[in-house]
Amino acid sequence: MSDASTPPGDTPPAEPRPSPRPCPICKKMSLPDYHPFCSKRCADIDLSRWFKGVYAVPTAESEEIERPADDDEDA
Ligand SMILES: [Zn+2]
Repeated sequence: MSDASTPPGDTPPAEPRPSPRPCPICKKMSLPDYHPFCSKRCADIDLSRWFKGVYAVPTAESEEIERPADDDEDA
């Protein structure tokens, strides 16, 4: 029996804690209180952007084909 020194599923050592991400709005260091933003202001900015995006993009649900209910089909 040959003993393999390294197992096939060798995974790299995971970092103890996730690397801090910069604020997506102003690229400053994000704070845990406003993660992933640096402040409430940036969080509000992102939120407003998100809302605008939602309102800008039309919902695909309204693309339903409306048909008149025709049950009396004479075939
Ligand atoms: Zn920010």
